[in-house]
Amino acid sequence: MTLTVRTPASWVVVGLDNGGTCNNATVLDATGRYLVDRLVENPSRVLEGPAVAVESLAEAFENILELTSTPRTLVRAVGLDTPGPASADGVISSKGSTNFSAPEWFGFDIRTALETRIGLPVVYHNDANAAALYAHHAHFGEDAAVRSSVAAIVGTGLGGGVVEQGRVISGVAGMAGELGHVQIPLHGLLEDDQPVPRCNCGFLGDVESIASLTGIANNLLPYWLTRFPDHELAAQPVARAAKLLRGYGERGDPLARAVFGQQAQAIGRLFTIAANFTDPAAYFLGGGVVEAEPAFRQWFLTTVQEHTQLRLEQARAAAFALVPDLDMAGARGAAVAALSSVAA
Ligand SMILES: [Zn+2]
Repeated sequence: MTLTVRTPASWVVVGLDNGGTCNNATVLDATGRYLVDRLVENPSRVLEGPAVAVESLAEAFENILELTSTPRTLVRAVGLDTPGPASADGVISSKGSTNFSAPEWFGFDIRTALETRIGLPVVYHNDANAAALYAHHAHFGEDAAVRSSVAAIVGTGLGGGVVEQGRVISGVAGMAGELGHVQIPLHGLLEDDQPVPRCNCGFLGDVESIASLTGIANNLLPYWLTRFPDHELAAQPVARAAKLLRGYGERGDPLARAVFGQQAQAIGRLFTIAANFTDPAAYFLGGGVVEAEPAFRQWFLTTVQEHTQLRLEQARAAAFALVPDLDMAGARGAAVAALSSVAA
C-alpha cells in the first residue's frame, strides 16, 4: 500500500498520540490539511519509564517530519495526547495509571518534558478529549469554531469529551468531560433482579459501570450469564468472555444484544443529560464499537439515539455520528489543538 504524503504549503503543527504500545504521528498544515492519511507509528515504550518514552515521542516527531519532507523550521507547535488520568496541562496522575504504572510516572509532567526535549511549544489533551476534538472538527469543518458537541468513547473505560465553540472544556483540574463517571438514572434500564453496577471509581450506576469493557466484565456479563446459564461464554474466564462478546453481538446473539442494548441505553441517558446541560449540536460515539461490523455499529448508534430524549427543537437541530478514523483520531485531535493554540 502506498502512503499518501503531501508536502507542506506553509507552516505546520505536529500531532503525537501516545498509547500503551505505539505512538502515532501526523502533520497538519496551516490551511487545515493533514499531510498523511495513514497511521505512522513507532513503539511508545511507556513501560520502560518516562525518560525512554519521551525519547520515543521525540523520535516519532523526527520521523514524521522526515516522512513528509517538512523542515523543522516550519513547525509552530506540537499537540500531544496520552491516556488519562492526567491534569489539563499533562501531569500524569499521582497514582499512575494502567499505561503509566512505573513509579517514575507518578506526577510526571510529560508535556513539559517533551517541550524541553524538542524545543517547541507542546499542547496537551487526554486521548478521549483529543478524539472528541477531532470528531468535532471533522464533522463541522469550517463551522467547527461556532459549534458544540459531546463525545463518548467506549473502551476499557468510558472516555469522553465536551467541545464548546470548537474547544475542549478542560475544567479547573483537567477533569471536565469525564463522562464515564456521570451517574445516570437506572430505572427501566436494569432488569428487576439485576444488581446496581459498580464502577472502579467507587460510584454506583455511573455510565462506565455499564458502557465499558470493564463494566461488561464486572457487572453486565456476570448478571446476564445467570439469565443464559447454558451460553458457551459461561465456560470462559469472565475477562476473556467480555472481550469475545462483541463478536457474538455482531452475529445477533441474544445475550450479547441484551448487554450491548443496556450499554446503548446508558449512553443515551448520558446524552440526555448533555442535552439539558450544553445542548450540543452533535453527539459522537467512538471506541471499539465503531470498529465493529457496520450493521452492528449502526444498530448500536440507533439504539443510543432512541434512548436520548431530545426536545423536538433539539432533535431537528442535532446530529448523531460515529467518531471517524478512530485509530488516527488521537493524533489528529492533538494536531487540531496545536493549530488552535497557534491561531489563537
Ligand atoms: Zn466511575
